[in-house]
Amino acid sequence: MTEAGSSAQPRAALPIEQLRAQFPALSQQINGQPLIYLDNAATVQKPRCVLDAVLRCYTESCANVHRGAHTLAERASEGYERARGAVQRLLHAASAQEIVFTSGCTAAINLVANGWGNRHVGSGDEILVTGLEHHSNLLPWQELCRRRGATLRSVPLDPQGQLDLQSYERLLGPRTRLVAVAHVSNALGTLNPIAELARRAHAAGALILVDGAQAVARCPVNVAELGSDFYTFSAHKLYAPFGLGVLHARAELLSDMEPLVTGGGMVELVEAERASYTAPPGRFEAGTPNLSAALGLERAILWLQALGLERVQAHEQDLLGYAREQLAALPGVRLLGGGPALGVVSLMVGSVHAHDVSTVLDRSGIAVRAGHHCAQPVMRHFGVPATVRASFAVYNTRAEIDALARGLERVREIFGG
Ligand code: PMP
Repeated sequence: MTEAGSSAQPRAALPIEQLRAQFPALSQQINGQPLIYLDNAATVQKPRCVLDAVLRCYTESCANVHRGAHTLAERASEGYERARGAVQRLLHAASAQEIVFTSGCTAAINLVANGWGNRHVGSGDEILVTGLEHHSNLLPWQELCRRRGATLRSVPLDPQGQLDLQSYERLLGPRTRLVAVAHVSNALGTLNPIAELARRAHAAGALILVDGAQAVARCPVNVAELGSDFYTFSAHKLYAPFGLGVLHARAELLSDMEPLVTGGGMVELVEAERASYTAPPGRFEAGTPNLSAALGLERAILWLQALGLERVQAHEQDLLGYAREQLAALPGVRLLGGGPALGVVSLMVGSVHAHDVSTVLDRSGIAVRAGHHCAQPVMRHFGVPATVRASFAVYNTRAEIDALARGLERVREIFGG
């Protein structure tokens, strides 16, 4: 049997059993079966150390960030800024002041589409998206173009679900102000050649925003090497709590953006009729920030870095290669997409509806996502209403993919076809 064809874990692999034991959620039984969690593109489970960090926040440093001079308030403020530093190091950003905390990846993209877009995009300008985007990296640009009288263009996909780079080159023009593209597609797993896309965008005089929601927990990210101008992600897909997102933007871009939300915590001087705002990133963080999620994110980043993101990527590549090989060999199963990808397989079982597939799998304790994955243009490209998506994380194993394959065989037995 080839390396990809064996259900044994490859050598130099992550210490899987030890690692799985750190995730309380993974020891659950679902419908009488051990949980096999393969919906990691939606959100990942959280390790004990992250849960502990959240609890510790509420027991030891529950105070409002940047709002007081007492000990708890200082702990809170220090912790929050430490978390910002951890994100800076994760992304290899030039400065922690280039890291803005938001409520999620969606909010981070909207901040750019409004805060940057309202100032820098005008009538006749163009925004270039791709046929792979999650709705969160599509609708904000549709709205921006509608508001500003600009034109939205989209890079088409080839039959494998990869970006058509010749069309990309053709669509980049003198009026293109910004390219908005996923690092990794949530619907297909497609891994986009960001450095190359950024180089070409810059040569055309455009900026590039990279939606890193599906990438940050799966591979090392270096915004300087990628050449991204804006990079966004959500903490909850990085083994951290819900309710927190990140925008990285180069300092000169941040200082030329409008705040979307105004209020407490982002001001220097306030009079009855006017106010002046603090420098970034505080300018974009009005209101009480999500300290517990930030401390959880800091912990998650340190935990992931201790595992080693290169090792994490190798593990996920191994799982994806194995899944593609095993699942494509099943009669009646059609995989969507191909080529360079990370962490995700999208498939159909004959003409069985994705929701039915997911329901049958759930009876065996297997959690997958069924639907359009907030990426309806991708579904339209393949002429399907929905797919079944299995997506991986550090704690998944080849044995779980074998169980998924058996589950899909059961679907065929039940529904035929
Ligand atoms: N972009 C991509 C590629 C995603 O997968 C997601 C989440 N599914 C988002 C953006 C939006 O993230 P959130 O819902 O956490 O804001």
